[in-house]
Amino acid sequence: MKITSQAKYFDGKTSKPHFVELEVFLHNQVTFYFENRRLIWNFQDIKFEKNGEILSITKKDNLHEIIKIENPETADTIYKSAKTSQNLSWYQNILDFGPKFYLTAFVSVITLIACFYIFIIPYVSEKVTDILPISFDEEIGNTNFQQIKSTSNIDEKQSEKLQEFANLINFGTERKLYFKVINDEEVNAFALPDGTIVVYSGLLSKVENPNELAALLGHEATHIKERHSTKILARSIAGYAIVSLVVGDVNGIMTTLANNANELNNLSFSREFEQSADEGSYAILKQNKINPEGMYQLFKILEKSDNLEVPKILSTHPLTKDRMNYSKTLMDRNDYSFSSNPELQKAFDNLKN
Ligand SMILES: [Zn+2]
Repeated sequence: MKITSQAKYFDGKTSKPHFVELEVFLHNQVTFYFENRRLIWNFQDIKFEKNGEILSITKKDNLHEIIKIENPETADTIYKSAKTSQNLSWYQNILDFGPKFYLTAFVSVITLIACFYIFIIPYVSEKVTDILPISFDEEIGNTNFQQIKSTSNIDEKQSEKLQEFANLINFGTERKLYFKVINDEEVNAFALPDGTIVVYSGLLSKVENPNELAALLGHEATHIKERHSTKILARSIAGYAIVSLVVGDVNGIMTTLANNANELNNLSFSREFEQSADEGSYAILKQNKINPEGMYQLFKILEKSDNLEVPKILSTHPLTKDRMNYSKTLMDRNDYSFSSNPELQKAFDNLKN
C-alpha cells in the first residue's frame, strides 16, 4: 500500500527545511524527489520517532538528515506501519509501552532495591564479619571504650562487684568479658565488641534480683558473642558501598565507617539481633539454672521507666511487644528446673549495697 504526504526534509547541511512530496510504501520504503533526484529510504535503514503528533524519520547512518511529517493522520499511519515492521528505535519501543509498563518497571526496581537491603546486604555483611578477625572487634571496641572512659565516671568499686557477680555465670563464650559500672542516673546498658559490658548505676538501682541482672548481662553478652556491632558496621559499609558505586563517592564509605565506629554504644540493633540476643540470654539462664522470669521482669522494669522518660537502652535495644511476648513464651516453656543460687544472690546483694 502506498500513501503520499507533504513533508519537511532537512538535508543536514542547512537548518532550512525543504518541502517535499513523500511517497511511502508501507512496511517498505519512503521515497521523494530532492534536487531532481529520487531519494529512496528503506525502512531497515531509517528510524521512526513520534513526538506528539509529529513523526520524524531519520537515516541511521546520518542522523542529520530528517524528514518531518506534520499531518497527524498520515504520521499515525506511517508510524503504525513502522511499528508492525519493527523499525522503531529501542527507546521509542519503550516509550510506546505506556504507563502500565512504567508502573511495572518502577515496582520491579523498588522490589530489587528492597531485596538488596533485606537479603543481599545482610548476607554480605555476615560473610564480611566471618572474614574479619576478632581482633578487629577488640580494636574498635577498645577505641570506643577509651572515649567513653574519658567522658564518663566509671565506678571502679561497683565495677569490681559487677565483675564478681558475672564471674559466677557461664556465658558460654571463649571471649573475655569485662563488666563496668558507670555512675549515671540514666537507665542504660550496652555492650562493646571488645567484650566490655557497661551497666549504668541508674539501671542497676532498678533491678531487684539476680535473675533480672543475669538476663540483662546474658543479653549484652550475646550481642558480643554474635558480633552484632561488627555486623551492623559491615551492613552500613555494604549499603554505603552500593550507594557510592552509584554516585561515585568513595570517601563516604570511610566517613560512615569512622562515624559508626565512634558510636558503637549508640548503634541501634535490629529486631532480628534483639531477638537473637534474647534467645542467647535465655540459653545462658538455662545453662546456669537461673529463673528465666528474670528476663520478663527486666522488660517490665524497662517498660515502666519508658513512661517516665525514654531510657536510652530502649533506643539501642528496641523493646517491642514481640520481644515481651517472646520472653513470655520462653518463660512458659518451663523446659528446665532452676534453683536459687545463694552465691549469686550474695554477689548481687553485695552489688546493691
Ligand atoms: Zn540488645
